[in-house]
Amino acid sequence: MKVTDVTCHILQSKVDRPFTSARGWLYGTRSSCVVEIATDEGITGFGECYGPAAVAKAVIDTQLKPRVIGRDPFDVEVVWEDLYNRIKDYGLAGMTISAISGIDIALWDIVGRAAGKPVHKLIGGAYRDEVVPYATGLYFIDMDRLIEEAVEEATDYARQGFRAIKMKIGLGDLKLDAARVAAVRRAIGPGVKLAVDANHCFSVPNAIRLGRMLEEHDVLWFEEPISPEDHDGYVEVTRALDVAVAGGENDFTRWGFRDIIARKAMDIVQPDLCAAGGFSECRKIATLASAFGVECVPHAWGSAIGLAATVQFLAALPDQPPALRPMPPMLEFEQTPNPLRDHLATTPIAQKGGVVKVPGGPGLGIEIDRKVLQQYKVA
Ligand code: CA
Repeated sequence: MKVTDVTCHILQSKVDRPFTSARGWLYGTRSSCVVEIATDEGITGFGECYGPAAVAKAVIDTQLKPRVIGRDPFDVEVVWEDLYNRIKDYGLAGMTISAISGIDIALWDIVGRAAGKPVHKLIGGAYRDEVVPYATGLYFIDMDRLIEEAVEEATDYARQGFRAIKMKIGLGDLKLDAARVAAVRRAIGPGVKLAVDANHCFSVPNAIRLGRMLEEHDVLWFEEPISPEDHDGYVEVTRALDVAVAGGENDFTRWGFRDIIARKAMDIVQPDLCAAGGFSECRKIATLASAFGVECVPHAWGSAIGLAATVQFLAALPDQPPALRPMPPMLEFEQTPNPLRDHLATTPIAQKGGVVKVPGGPGLGIEIDRKVLQQYKVA
């Protein structure tokens, strides 16, 4: 089998109620770079790149596409190494790796379709046939109702059946953050897990101060307390707090994660399938993490394609550690309104009764709705 074409679709949709996080910019639109790879055997695969879609498309169209055409999709890791070797002089991290990720995911989709198996059966097998999702939300929308809105949204997720929720924090006022987390914890009760995500807005001392304030609210993990470049700072925060510290959505490849993992700078690493290097590379990152006793719980924030890839990856991720009653890695299931997540697959990935079933169909296990693809395509 040979790759005959690589097409990047830029999809975009408007957000009805723009929201923000501690990063400070307003999300008024959602967009994705969807990678479609065609082969001479009529099998087509889809992948997705995290980050600015036009940048991913430019990297693929100008740097990567010519090196993928003519290749056998079954040589997926050979292709990965070749693409990385092509861009490493100027692109060790960031959008160049996102671009490779989209291609890698699409190639694995093709391999799965050719074999008639879901990707998780090809990368180790099914440790589970369902995953427990956590609802990511509780962004900052109405700045006058920050606590009320968070409580309403969290209560709604719990009512929908979610067993875990991740809320945004980082309001420039540690006491306000702590009060908001306390209000959400009171509203959802002790039975729903609650993680917090600061999108790296704190200094080391403030992260430690807030982390200690949050410990009484039974916080599952404290995500991105500080800036991703500061590995020494992560070591300090992780050692200082009882609550688990997570991060890694802004890190890339096995080399980017190597020192974080070897130093146990985080308790949980969160590579994104669509950013850190696709299936091929995230498997290596997960193996590295397992060797050092660090949990790997992937980050996910994209369309149905990225979500499906993450579900496939999670299905093949061992319990960390194995146990009579293990605590398997959870699926990040972002819940802000996004038609690219909800409608791009003909059968959307959905939470029911607190779990998401792992699709058993070939490849990523989803079929792309071409009408929806065209509807949201802007380039
Ligand atoms: Ca995050």
